[in-house]
Amino acid sequence: MEKRRFTLCASLILLLGLNGLQAQEKQSLKFAWPEEKKAAVCLTYDDGLDCHLDVAAPALERHGFRGTFYVTGNSVSLNSRTGEWRAMAARGHELGNHTLFHPCHGSTYDWVKPEYDLDSYTLERLMSELFTANSLLKAVDGREERSFAYTCTNHTIKGLSFVDDIRTLFPAARGGGEMPAAMDQVDPYYVPSWGVVDPTGEELIQYVEQAIEQGTMAVIMFHSVGGGYLNVSSEAHEQLLSYLDEHSDILWVDTFQNVMKHVSSELLPFQAFTE
Ligand SMILES: [Zn+2]
Repeated sequence: MEKRRFTLCASLILLLGLNGLQAQEKQSLKFAWPEEKKAAVCLTYDDGLDCHLDVAAPALERHGFRGTFYVTGNSVSLNSRTGEWRAMAARGHELGNHTLFHPCHGSTYDWVKPEYDLDSYTLERLMSELFTANSLLKAVDGREERSFAYTCTNHTIKGLSFVDDIRTLFPAARGGGEMPAAMDQVDPYYVPSWGVVDPTGEELIQYVEQAIEQGTMAVIMFHSVGGGYLNVSSEAHEQLLSYLDEHSDILWVDTFQNVMKHVSSELLPFQAFTE
């Protein structure tokens, strides 16, 4: 009897103590960027194009920046210029996973071949494609970990989301949609990004300024740089880079993987409370 009373008391004390601790922690929970920066910027480039090697990466490096390059497994450039992609990764850029065959919803995009219609995939097939793309990129850059970018920002197969299924393969994933109003609204496995089509330098800068205002992150999805599909001109790209350079005291420009490592560690206490 005595023992039971003691156990009850001890449990109550522990419970009260934990509640107090949680309340205390809740008050002190505040998302912060490293070195008192105001926002983060991730410059990402999709589909493994020659212009990434020839135009985008050299431009980034002139300013001391590193980007994330979502290289599709069947990229022609990855096949013909493998050594250059390897060297680019060795200089600090991230080679991200963008599937092997770039499947997307054929009902939305008329260029999708029936073989690569995401809605004709099974989850098993997609997961094995993502795993194999990780192996391929590991053979190129020697890295064990990389982030993922949903192809066409599509994240469902026959209406069912696979956002939770990919957690075993990646530390974070880039999706689409509006910039979050606050960092505690970010799901690290579907981080919004802006897919640009012929943006002006001013528009790109405005997007970053929105992130500064909100204390959030600006993730920009580029494809061609300096000519090609879903293009950004070299001039607009350069205008953005110069702006980022001039504001390096308040902006953290880094790969999606590096930025998300920080974001996930900062968000951990928030998730502990909401789960
Ligand atoms: Zn793509």
